[in-house]
Amino acid sequence: MQGFTPDKDSKTTNFGCKLMRVYRCPKCGREVELPEGDYYCKVCGPSAVMVKALIDEELELERLFRLQNDLIEHKFPKDHIALHEYLISCAGDIYREMTRKTPYYYYINEKWSTLAGYCGRFGGLRKGDYEELAMLMREPYYKPKRDVYMKNLERLKDETRKARIDEKRKRVMVAALDMIEGLVRWFESLDPYKYPKAEFDALTDAIANYFPEQFYE
Ligand SMILES: [Zn+2]
Repeated sequence: MQGFTPDKDSKTTNFGCKLMRVYRCPKCGREVELPEGDYYCKVCGPSAVMVKALIDEELELERLFRLQNDLIEHKFPKDHIALHEYLISCAGDIYREMTRKTPYYYYINEKWSTLAGYCGRFGGLRKGDYEELAMLMREPYYKPKRDVYMKNLERLKDETRKARIDEKRKRVMVAALDMIEGLVRWFESLDPYKYPKAEFDALTDAIANYFPEQFYE
């Protein structure tokens, strides 16, 4: 606590609780670690209300966003085909949205609904989608590119699992990456109805768990 004691008349809550926050004075930039509450700067006076400094979780989320972007965003080999890349992007967009401080539910629901259209009860892809994919898989660059993609996906999953972020949020993010892996394996099976049901259900549960008031199927 660097010898700092809260100002007498500052309102504090949850004292004795272990959850500490870093507060920064907007005037002098001084930082102090305190329990959640309202404080003003001891040096600058009551007009300088201290603000929450960027907390670890926000930094972690920013890092994961950049990693996702560098490792997998629009990197699945996609020549000849559009639909596969589109479905992978939906799961990727859910992951990206979850790296925002306040994820927007309706955006996530829109992406989820698209996935549900292919992976739900009435799911499946048309034969034509697989003809395109079979063509792509015969290209000599497909396998090396796809292997790099899967390796990067694994690394992102690993980094996400280890990240110091809210567990409910993490569950959605890991489920979105599992979903991408499931989609790739589905495409490669060349079986239109072998959609990744377990991964889709896990993603659905994780989203419902994160947005308990808003989620509807
Ligand atoms: Zn100050």
